[in-house]
Amino acid sequence: MTIQWYPGHMAKAKRQVLEKLKLIDVVIEVVDARIPLSSRNPMVDEITSHKPRLVLLNKSDLADQAVTDKWVTYFEDKGWASLVIDAQRGKGMKEIPLKVKELCKPLLDKFAAKGMNPRALRALILGIPNVGKSTVINRIANKKITKIGDRPGVTKSQQWIKVGKEIELLDTPGILWPKFEDQDVGFRLALTGAIKEEIFDFQETVVFLLDYLKKNYPEKLKNRYNLTELPEEVGELFDAIGKRRGCLVPGGIVDYDRVAEIVFRDFRQGKLGTISLERP
Ligand code: GDP
Repeated sequence: MTIQWYPGHMAKAKRQVLEKLKLIDVVIEVVDARIPLSSRNPMVDEITSHKPRLVLLNKSDLADQAVTDKWVTYFEDKGWASLVIDAQRGKGMKEIPLKVKELCKPLLDKFAAKGMNPRALRALILGIPNVGKSTVINRIANKKITKIGDRPGVTKSQQWIKVGKEIELLDTPGILWPKFEDQDVGFRLALTGAIKEEIFDFQETVVFLLDYLKKNYPEKLKNRYNLTELPEEVGELFDAIGKRRGCLVPGGIVDYDRVAEIVFRDFRQGKLGTISLERP
C-alpha cells in the first residue's frame, strides 16, 4: 500500500488510531525487521504508552538473522516484548497469542480480583504502510473473519476477528506515517518499499545502498555482480557493475540510471541475499 502523507492526513491518521486505541487492551506493532527503527512512526511510543505492546519484527525472511537477533536483544533491553516473524509464510506467529496473554496478565489479574469472568483481550495491529499489517491480520484470521457483534463504543461496521477463545483482534489495522525527517531513514524506507517510487531519487537511493553494502555486506555485493575487488569510490562501483551487466551507452559510457534500476530491483527481489539496512 502506498500513501502520500500531508499534515492533514497525518492528523487524521493519528485521530483514527487514537479512536481505535480506546477500544483495545493491547497494541501489536508491526515493523520491518530490516529497518526496525526506521519503520516505526515517531510518535508511536507516546500515543500507545498507556497500553501493553508487542513488537512484531516482520519480513524476517529478508533480513540478516544475526542482526535481527541483535534487535531482539535491543528490544528486550528496553523492556519491550518482541517476536520475529515472517507473516507471508506464517513463521513465528503461533507465539503471538501467548505473548499477548503474558503482556495482559495485569489486566487478567484485575478481572480475577474483581471476581469477574475474564473477557476476551482486544488487540489492534498498528504500523506504517507496507510493513505487512494486512498480511499478519489475514494470517491470523485464516480467511475466516467472524463478526462478533457490537462492543461498547464500537461502530457497527467495526469487525473483530477471534483468535482462539481469549483474544479478539480488530479487523482493520491502525496506520501511521513513517518518519521523513532524516535522509537515511528516507533511503531505508524507499529501499524496503514503504514509500512510493515516484517520490524518491533513484540514483541517490542506490548510492546509499551500495555504500552501505560495501561496508556491511562486501561479499554479497561481490558475489552478485561477479566482482573480485570493490572499488573505493561508489562511482567506480557503478562503473564496475554497469560493465558486468552491459549497461553501456554508445561510446562505452556506463548508463548510471540503468545500473541504479538493476541494483534496486535486485535488492527488492532479495537477489543480494538477506540484508538488514539498520543495526542497533
Ligand atoms: P500493510 O500495508 O502493512 O498492510 O502491508 P501488506 O500486508 O499489504 O504487505 C506489504 C507487502 O509485503 C506485500 O507484498 C506482502 O506480500 C509483503 N509481506 C508481508 N509480510 C511479509 C513477510 O513476512 N515476508 C515477505 N518477504 N514479504 C511480506
